[in-house]
Amino acid sequence: MAATTEELLALHERVRACTACPLHATRIQAVPGYGPVTARIMAVGEGPGETEDREGKPFVGAAGQLLTRLLESVGLDRRDIYITNIIKCRPPGNRDPEQEEVEACSHFLDEQVTMLDPDVILVLGRHALLRLLPGAGGISRLHGQRLRRGDRAYVPLYHPAAALYNASLMDTLTADMQRVRGYLADAEAARARRAQGVGVVGASTTAQPDPSDQLALF
Ligand code: SF4
Repeated sequence: MAATTEELLALHERVRACTACPLHATRIQAVPGYGPVTARIMAVGEGPGETEDREGKPFVGAAGQLLTRLLESVGLDRRDIYITNIIKCRPPGNRDPEQEEVEACSHFLDEQVTMLDPDVILVLGRHALLRLLPGAGGISRLHGQRLRRGDRAYVPLYHPAAALYNASLMDTLTADMQRVRGYLADAEAARARRAQGVGVVGASTTAQPDPSDQLALF
């Protein structure tokens, strides 16, 4: 059963009080995540940037505004999505997170995924891909594809921040986002079938892309 709002907010409070890695010393504030516990879609990025560090919310800077526009372009309301990062505190100067920092923070993301039990996780950028789907492949090969693990679909996408500085990535990200709505519709249908007790024959438990998905256009 999904967690309650109170349980999710209690997790957020634990994140805000966390001092488990050196990033706590340089942050203004931790950025636990934002969105309803009932969200069926989760978006996971790399880590807070300067604006996020200041405001305490994820994806509120330029990359966040692009993410909002991309979601809206396929009829999704950002307020229905739970958004977080693999690490909850800003690395100084927006450097890449260190492996030890990712490991120290990883249990928080695991708890968030367990609490929300989302149908679809949008995996934003290579760091999130490495953290959530280790060994599955690189972002340049997997972007826009649907990878299944159990009942959940993971969709690697280029990070919006990368697309802001590269016009070709912007086109790719926009095209990939068009497929997400279809993935979500499929996930909702699968959830409804499970609720009715209808098994999904042949459901994959690996992170391999479904070849048919690579041809799907929505
Ligand atoms: S990045 Fe994660 S582990 Fe490190 S201090 Fe922040 S919340 Fe704690």
